Amino acid sequence: LALAAVAIAWRRRRRPAVVAASSDPELLADLEAAIESGRLDFAFQPKVDLRSGRWLGAELLVRWNHPEHGPIAPEDFVPMAEQAGVIGAMSVHLVRCGLAQRRRWPATEPPLHVSVNVSANDLADPRLVDAIIEACPGADAGLMLEVTETDVMREPGRVADALPRLRAHGIRISVDDFGAGHSSLVNVRHLAPDELKIDRSFVTNLLASHSDQAIVTAIIGLAHELGATVAAEGIEDPATRQWLADAGCDAGQGFGIARPMTADEFATLLNVGQAGSGAG
Ligand code: C2E
Ligand code: MG
Ligand code: MG
Ligand code: MG
Repeated sequence: LALAAVAIAWRRRRRPAVVAASSDPELLADLEAAIESGRLDFAFQPKVDLRSGRWLGAELLVRWNHPEHGPIAPEDFVPMAEQAGVIGAMSVHLVRCGLAQRRRWPATEPPLHVSVNVSANDLADPRLVDAIIEACPGADAGLMLEVTETDVMREPGRVADALPRLRAHGIRISVDDFGAGHSSLVNVRHLAPDELKIDRSFVTNLLASHSDQAIVTAIIGLAHELGATVAAEGIEDPATRQWLADAGCDAGQGFGIARPMTADEFATLLNVGQAGSGAG
């Protein structure tokens, strides 16, 4: 009963509840067991090329449906997994799941990729980097790792150290939630990411906010100057999608394009056709 109350409290009050949750030994044990037995589920959110309308791939989003407390948000349990030291096992498991699903997707040019969210701690651990590389089939891994800007900036040196090895195996790096953290441009340049992913907070109100438009335009310019592509998350309507396409943003994701869906639904979507507003 107390546990259920905690679980409900988390979903309501985010910050203080995470602290309470992460120190709950029973819930931690449940999470560890779910990770070890592969009982964590995941969804795919499609990612579209804003110019051509073609699907580029999808982002894997972890899901935990607790047998008693029901679905728990990743923003609540991912920090628990970090603190419990099981995030690495979770990340490797999800990379394997993502790549296994990718084998069912049609071969396209350029090849579709799967994006998996990882923590900077993962990339700072050479054994974990080895495990991720081992999970990849060949030179074209079709794998992109997303690491949040805030997380990267905790360990800029160690993350940057892992990148050449990942890159040598065709694995790409995206800086997630970009603009919401505190990167110095020196760090971003040193990292040389393959993609910058504009934080949703700049996209939500884009059409009404001149300052958000200025920031988004600047991030697009920065990404391209650094030789990276740029993606926007949180696109909820066609007008925002069009604005971003006109501004030169390469890729987009959001409820207005496609909601997170099951692996089967995504495979069906790929086989049915393209994302509209461009190549049919
Ligand atoms: P993120 O990587 O920035 O993922 C995007 C989040 O925004 C997802 O929530 C997605 O469902 C949601 N979203 C997508 N489009 C829209 C939209 O148009 N409007 C709105 N309001 N929301 C949208 P989700 O799945 O709850 O994930 C939240 C965060 O949890 C992720 O943010 C990521 O930081 C973390 N996370 C999710 N899956 C994993 C994972 O497998 N590993 C790790 N380490 N973290 C994960
Ligand atoms: Mg992400
Ligand atoms: Mg994001
Ligand atoms: Mg986010």
